[in-house]
Amino acid sequence: MSDCLFCAISAGDIPADIVARSDQALAFRDIDPKAPVHILIIPTEHYDDVPAVAEADPGLAGELLALAALVATQEGVAASGHRLVANTGVEGGQSVGHAHIHLLGGRGLGWPPG
Ligand code: 5GP
Ligand code: ZN
Repeated sequence: MSDCLFCAISAGDIPADIVARSDQALAFRDIDPKAPVHILIIPTEHYDDVPAVAEADPGLAGELLALAALVATQEGVAASGHRLVANTGVEGGQSVGHAHIHLLGGRGLGWPPG
């Protein structure tokens, strides 16, 4: 989709610190990390949000989770614990309109979030 930041990252038009890839997904470091480990996992193709991925292509939704699990291991936060977050829509606090899952870890994460 034109004018989409994460489509531009997926296409290689905007640089990102890419940590892992799978067939149809990409993982890169968040530019403004909220924890020592803060990775974004996105489908390479444009979907507006994670529910849209799940509805259109449940296999791809699974692929995003599988890549998140691989990255958690790679980043050393699989055993210590970590959090996956999919902010969705206005009240969910989504600021980038391309589906993404946050992987947060490397410190104790409080609950509930603010
Ligand atoms: P949201 O608020 O939509 O759940 O998450 C969007 C995330 O994208 C934010 O955590 C923000 O820091 C991150 N972000 C925004 N612009 C860029 C960018 O240009 N590069 C990277 N790597 N992350 C970005
Ligand atoms: Zn996009």
